[in-house]
Amino acid sequence: MATGFVFHELYLWHNTWNWNQVFPPSLTVQPGTHAENPETKRRLRNLLEVSGILDHLVTIKPRRATVEELSRVHTPAHIAKIREISDRGYGDASSLTPLGAGSYEIALLAAGGAIKAMEAVITGEVDNAYALIRPPGHHATADVGMGFCLFSNAAIAIRHAQQLHGLTRIATVDWDVHHGNGTQAIFYDDPSVLSISLHQDNLFPVNSGAIAENGEGKGKGFNINVPLPPGSGPGAYAAAFERVVLPALTRFKPELIVVPSGFDASGVDPMGRMLMNSSGYRRLARMLLDAARELCGGRLVMTHEGGYSEMYVPYCGLAVIEELCGHRTGVEDPWDQLMGQWGGMSAQPHQTAIIDQAAELVKNIN
Ligand SMILES: [Zn+2]
Repeated sequence: MATGFVFHELYLWHNTWNWNQVFPPSLTVQPGTHAENPETKRRLRNLLEVSGILDHLVTIKPRRATVEELSRVHTPAHIAKIREISDRGYGDASSLTPLGAGSYEIALLAAGGAIKAMEAVITGEVDNAYALIRPPGHHATADVGMGFCLFSNAAIAIRHAQQLHGLTRIATVDWDVHHGNGTQAIFYDDPSVLSISLHQDNLFPVNSGAIAENGEGKGKGFNINVPLPPGSGPGAYAAAFERVVLPALTRFKPELIVVPSGFDASGVDPMGRMLMNSSGYRRLARMLLDAARELCGGRLVMTHEGGYSEMYVPYCGLAVIEELCGHRTGVEDPWDQLMGQWGGMSAQPHQTAIIDQAAELVKNIN
């Protein structure tokens, strides 16, 4: 199994400034690090190197996406706004999404990294790929950057695949703890993209990601949300995959699967209240690999999104990438067994009740 890996040092130079996690500095609490800072990404990249798994991956060099490629998803005004703030050296994409000098060029490199990962999988250079890119993308809509996201990396790669490589049916499975509202909005009336998001119910953005948001127009039925209750763990996520995600993929028959991959659903993440552990993520990756092999020649592309635990994101990322490439490093996740013994790790009745509601949507895929 050949797995592509996209990374660039510049991804870590996108400056989100010294905020109090997500709020601008004030004279109330000492300024600290913005939640979306380079550290989790750097530590994941470092673990891939130290564990030796990097030697088993195919390096894919990113390039900057062009304005034309961005324009397949974003409005000229939005692209110009991000560029203007970046050139100015400081500003906010909308709210709580700061950027600095060079962030525009780095965001182009992130979107271009997603495109390169997509191309490598489509052309058969690799079987699947993980793009460890930054800034993240799944909250950005056509005309607004939000939730630490500037451009919608996954959506830009999907449009590239459709327009240049002729793919007609692509599915996204977003396991970031927050709702993939940008991806949803971009493809909401488009039946060529099945958008599935598993997320903590009403976390971010608020009032977004309900089961009732099922697509519109020709896209009716092709957007599925699974708003899991806070406290959902590996059992609930696996049940959601078995009852919703896998049946939906089987019905949709994608030519390729994209995973906006956030590790902020872990049980120790500061930005979410879920209970996932690395073996839980490993299991989800395994399920998607099996589905991809059955449905679309194994074609699977993951684009990095959130994940804010400096000590735990690396273990979750390593577990997923081990599954993708089929190589076990032998690195032990010291938290995995401990978290596995916590209460509430299996699917709970109030969680499966939501999953069963979302499962009703599968029949709307026509
Ligand atoms: Zn997130």
